[in-house]
Amino acid sequence: MENLHRPTAATAFAHHSLVWVKRGPGTNSLKSRQRPARCTVSRSRPRWSMQAPGGAFTGPTYDFIIVGAGAAGSVLAHRLVNARFADGKRGAPRVLLLENGGTLDDAPIYEHIPLGFSQLLGSRLDYGFYSREDPAQMGGRGSLYFPRGMGEGGSHAISVMLYVRGSFLDYAFWEERYGATGWGPLDVIPYFKRSESNERAESQDAFGAKSREFHGADGPLRVCNQRHPNPMSLAFLRAAELEGSRRNPDFNDWNEGQEGIGMYQVTQRDGRRESPATAFLRPIRGRRNLHIETHALAERVVLDEEQRRAIGVSYIDRHGKRVIAHAACEVLLAAGAIGTPQLLMLSGIGPGEHLRSLGLKVVRDSVGVGSNLQDHAAVVVSHYSPDPFQDDRQHKQLYYTELLGKDPWTLFQYFALGTGPLTSPICEAGGFYHTRADAEDYGCDLQLRFVPFFSDPDPYKSLAEYRSGGDFLMNTNVRPAGFAVQSVLIRPHSRGSVRLSTVDPRTRPIIHANWLQDPRDLRTLVNGIQVSRKIIGLEPMEEYRGEEVFPASVTDKPEEYVRQTCHTANALVGTARMGTGPDAVVDPQLRVYGIERLRVIDASVMPKITGGQTGAPTMMIAERGADFVKQTWKLT
Ligand SMILES: Cc1cc2nc3c(=O)[nH]c(=O)nc-3n(C[C@H](O)[C@H](O)[C@H](O)COP(=O)(O)OP(=O)(O)OC[C@H]3O[C@@H](n4cnc5c(N)ncnc54)[C@H](O)[C@@H]3O)c2cc1C
Repeated sequence: MENLHRPTAATAFAHHSLVWVKRGPGTNSLKSRQRPARCTVSRSRPRWSMQAPGGAFTGPTYDFIIVGAGAAGSVLAHRLVNARFADGKRGAPRVLLLENGGTLDDAPIYEHIPLGFSQLLGSRLDYGFYSREDPAQMGGRGSLYFPRGMGEGGSHAISVMLYVRGSFLDYAFWEERYGATGWGPLDVIPYFKRSESNERAESQDAFGAKSREFHGADGPLRVCNQRHPNPMSLAFLRAAELEGSRRNPDFNDWNEGQEGIGMYQVTQRDGRRESPATAFLRPIRGRRNLHIETHALAERVVLDEEQRRAIGVSYIDRHGKRVIAHAACEVLLAAGAIGTPQLLMLSGIGPGEHLRSLGLKVVRDSVGVGSNLQDHAAVVVSHYSPDPFQDDRQHKQLYYTELLGKDPWTLFQYFALGTGPLTSPICEAGGFYHTRADAEDYGCDLQLRFVPFFSDPDPYKSLAEYRSGGDFLMNTNVRPAGFAVQSVLIRPHSRGSVRLSTVDPRTRPIIHANWLQDPRDLRTLVNGIQVSRKIIGLEPMEEYRGEEVFPASVTDKPEEYVRQTCHTANALVGTARMGTGPDAVVDPQLRVYGIERLRVIDASVMPKITGGQTGAPTMMIAERGADFVKQTWKLT
């Protein structure tokens, strides 16, 4: 059995025999809390109570329990902890934030150094999921690797930090085609802006004024221009322009559209990684109305006796003890596109037949739970560069090899000045393309990301191998100098699924990505290889261009190369989609259909994946979700 909950093995499970025990005067059993007229919580310190039958411990009562301290959970905690009940009597709501991984303080230094990304994949911060695939569809491969973050900041704490919102059309379609009323482009812009403190919006020139229409200047999340663009990235942009692309100075300016090429903006502060944990959790960490419980694996949502309302969460704490915490107002699931559907299904909310096949009681037959899984599949064209080491000083700044972390100048640049190649987000330049004549009318189908780094066909696997040579400073691996262009399928048509493998919450669910099931997806990735080769072949890339290693050394058939080598670009979403229709799991206010006081607020609710990286849209969802919660409970 693969262990999801790393610290300890938990005590025996008794999923259906958990009972809430009476906890002394002033506290209520679950039975007596079935229909509180309103959310009322004692302001005194929470009391811990006796052990419950079946090995469970009962915990204190909170107003809100948030499961998952990732991109969405961090935003939610920030907004709720800073709110107050409008009646003036009850003060600030009490919030429990449950996180399966550790705290920001436990994280290695590489988490904070942007180029340290290479050290995060396959580390203890990465769940490292593997899917089950049909080998015929995937060029003989039976599984794919899916990094996912564990710990405060979630997947975004191990991300490549690109700040991309997608196109306004993504949100128009959420509303028009999926019934996500109130999530149109004009509705969501203020919530993107609320999170953001974008250096572009601070500038007093004409570009700054234009930027303020779309960017926030005083939110918690720092968004910046890159501090040290690699000369190869700039050459790539010149070549892409020659190929016919327009320069797009801001991919998030919806007046101008997404198409075009440019440098990506990144979530960084003074050259350091800005994650949802540094931006949203760090400022509230000491607050008395917040309890962050790390190394705590939520195992199911506790429902009232009639199975209609969420009243708490059962979790396994860092000591392996089962605890049941009570939510007087709501339970908010923010465990991500894998964790959230797993938790819903373990709670009896999911496809009835599947749950019954595992012996689970079906509380709500919801076919959409775990379905509609979407991701950005990607392939690379990768080149060696000629004569990489003729000038050490220059090449330590140009070719991101293992020499970089040992170079005193590079280290000085980073630690003293907050600049230099260690601030590179790895994918520095790129852009958006419309490659298929038959593409739906929802925008570009392809994103290119230029990586000033030689890569194997799977860059994440490649980075993990680099890491196996030792840590950043002592690495003994010898990586050839070079670069890669990654083609990302940003608006896929294929859909996958997440299903339980067992009823034990510590076991990994079964992920079936099902990429390339729709032939249009294959076509976009093949087109991506063609566009990349065209750009790489142009004059500005000449001085850096050595032999093409991939796909050339694998096959001369691009379709075959795509099937054999495509990898995730880390954007899993959609497994508890919002909107209307039989497969919708939550309504447009993110409330789970059929269960009161339970919301899903994370990447799972996206009905259709956005055409760009999914971190910023997830944080926007959490900002909006926090507002819904505050409106419901009259919080200001
Ligand atoms: C390698 C990588 C690179 C990426 N690069 C970018 C990028 O450049 N730009 C961008 O915008 N986006 C990027 N993303 C995507 C972005 O990080 C995600 O879209 C975003 O983090 C999703 O947020 P979430 O809150 O839904 O889930 P997550 O951020 O994954 O958070 C879920 C949290 O819930 C916890 N959890 C899960 N189950 C349980 C449970 N049962 N009990 C307790 N806790 C639980 C997890 O440990 C995790 O901390 C990247 C992702 C990865 C993995």
